Amino acid sequence: MEDRTTNKRSESIPELFGSHVFNDRVMKERLPKETYRALKRTSELGKHLDRSIADVVANAMKDWAVELGATHFTHWFQPMTGITAEKHDSFLQPEGDSAVIMSFSGKELVKGEPDASSFPSGGLRATFEARGYTAWDPSSYAFIKDNTLCIPTVFCSYGGEALDKKSPLLRSMEVINKQALRILRLFGNTDVTRVTTTVGPEQEYFLIDEALWRQREDLVLCGRTLFGAKPPKGQELEDHYFGAIKPQVQAFMQDLDRELWKLGIFAKTEHNEVAPAQHELAPVFTNSNMATDHNQLTMEVMKKVAARHSLACLLHEKPFDGINGSGKHNNWSISTNTGVNLLEPGDTPRENAQFLLFLCAVIKAVDEYQDLLRVSVASAGNDHRLGANEAPPAIVSMFLGDELTEILESIEAGTAYEQKSAEELRIGVHILPRFPKDTTDRNRTSPFAFTGNKFEFRMLGSDLSIAGPNIVLNTIVAEALSEFADVLEQAESFQDTLDKLIRTTISKHKRIIFNGDGYSSEWEAEAERRGLLNLRTTPDALPYFIAEKNIALFTKHKIFTTAELKSRYEILLETYFKKRRIEALTMVEMAKRQILPAATKYAATLTEAALQKQQLSPAVAAEYELLTVTELSQLTAQLSQRVAQLDAHIKKADGLGDIATQANYCKDQLLADMQAVRESADALEAMTDSAYWPFPTYVDLLYRN
Ligand code: ADP
Ligand code: MG
Repeated sequence: MEDRTTNKRSESIPELFGSHVFNDRVMKERLPKETYRALKRTSELGKHLDRSIADVVANAMKDWAVELGATHFTHWFQPMTGITAEKHDSFLQPEGDSAVIMSFSGKELVKGEPDASSFPSGGLRATFEARGYTAWDPSSYAFIKDNTLCIPTVFCSYGGEALDKKSPLLRSMEVINKQALRILRLFGNTDVTRVTTTVGPEQEYFLIDEALWRQREDLVLCGRTLFGAKPPKGQELEDHYFGAIKPQVQAFMQDLDRELWKLGIFAKTEHNEVAPAQHELAPVFTNSNMATDHNQLTMEVMKKVAARHSLACLLHEKPFDGINGSGKHNNWSISTNTGVNLLEPGDTPRENAQFLLFLCAVIKAVDEYQDLLRVSVASAGNDHRLGANEAPPAIVSMFLGDELTEILESIEAGTAYEQKSAEELRIGVHILPRFPKDTTDRNRTSPFAFTGNKFEFRMLGSDLSIAGPNIVLNTIVAEALSEFADVLEQAESFQDTLDKLIRTTISKHKRIIFNGDGYSSEWEAEAERRGLLNLRTTPDALPYFIAEKNIALFTKHKIFTTAELKSRYEILLETYFKKRRIEALTMVEMAKRQILPAATKYAATLTEAALQKQQLSPAVAAEYELLTVTELSQLTAQLSQRVAQLDAHIKKADGLGDIATQANYCKDQLLADMQAVRESADALEAMTDSAYWPFPTYVDLLYRN
């Protein structure tokens, strides 16, 4: 469907920005003052919206959308599939028997009823009613995409169980708001009425030629290459990072920017990444809810715009073996409605004491819930990155930089902060020295790095919805804040109790702080000595999702019920198994129908050539042909035997019954079988006439664009 509004090239950027969003400016313009105010109260305080107000808003939205060419509307939601879902309805209403009007009611705006049974529910359906509904989230703006008015919504079962990623995210934002406000009040802060978490996700992706992409069944079905001999050139020359952007990619990026700006997504920087054909996009940060919606939209728009430029956008975490995979850096902070970033060291002793307490809350949270952070980024695709010396290790630790670490050490020890100040640093009495926000200080190997006024959680894979990691981050930090507030609210002397609280937190949780090289094997050993977890794979990590302490955490803050947690655990395991199974089946098919026939044909050609030479005269040497045929035959025999084994093991996996056993079998057996198949096939690729090879090679995909 052609979007009628995409062709207006003459618009200026300020005019273009947010032009497809029913944002605050449009609402102010188009809604009666009373309605506007009521709506603002709803989105800011999470209050319920009156039906009569909903009718007015719906009508204004429809008029605005129709003016921009929209004919349909949809409730836009984020089920557990990891992508977004929509079900389009037309605005058209028959009037009499020969006319139509465009209509959209408050009821249609507020609630929808998609068929819940076609979305994963992880056993919730069995326990609760099959039907689900979507409900408008007024805290994220409606927008127009493909001539359709999209209304951001949550998706729940009729029993109230969340079937999506947005509901628990909104719940987690409420919880951290509540707990952070308790802390702020203790510091005498009365003007702040709302605390929100902010997120800026940096998105990595690959762009390759679409026609080549189409020829590879593995890329089309699995998003990653399952075969491919190593190209003579990898990324060793480091000539791609921040390198000149090619014209076709440049055109894609310009087009992408315009599409994202229309949706009010402020894409800010774009540059080439380390790997060939890899790029990155970073938006300006916003609140966690909008950032999540925007990132989902960004991924969708990237794919669509790429197709317009005859490119395929790969969001898989590891599309190519031996080449860096793609991640997503979740920049996260906490800020007040008065514009204060609570993770920014301040100018006064009071602000600094407050900063240190929030910092300690994050330290405590990350240490106590390492397992949940690891679970929140676990997926089949990301297993190929974490711990593979290109992405953070699977061990969760925190980078604070030398300066801040030194400060914490001196606070803990009650000693003077080395050289920089003559006396002991008293919390709430002294100010902190300034420490550099400088990028040179960054440690690229750390999974969770303090970067001056925010934390950068770097373990996310490029394909992941950022909802999960942010639900976990918000909840675990809220829990730490609530424990701190419990102690401080009871304190006789706030100053002394605060001092003690900060000291004991540092001493108890400092094991999570590590400023060194996360890729080194020494760190693995050291982390083990410190008692940190090292959950290498998704099946290793997922059981922690339903560990007793984590169920207690999520139910205490009403983020997930026990049933919701168990259902999500099941869905994650199932997804892991299904993805691995599709990969294994794709390998079998490509090997049997493409690779083995190609190698066999080439061997036949060589045999024919050898026979012809020998017919000419027995004295003509056909050694090259015969040796190559021998080697090809050995490899094809080996490959076909390995494929048969993989095939048999897929069938075995299917019969294993319970999902945890199946997932573990994939991890322990199928992956090894797949590796063996790939080795034989890649060896065949390296010696087969390129004219016979049935699909594009790594060189074609990565360099011939
Ligand atoms: P770089 O990493 O290139 O130095 P920045 O540090 O400015 O760039 O930002 C990287 C990402 O972090 C951007 O998406 C940015 O919007 C986001 N970011 C910056 N400040 C915050 C904040 N307070 N909260 C959340 N994200 C932020
Ligand atoms: Mg970054």
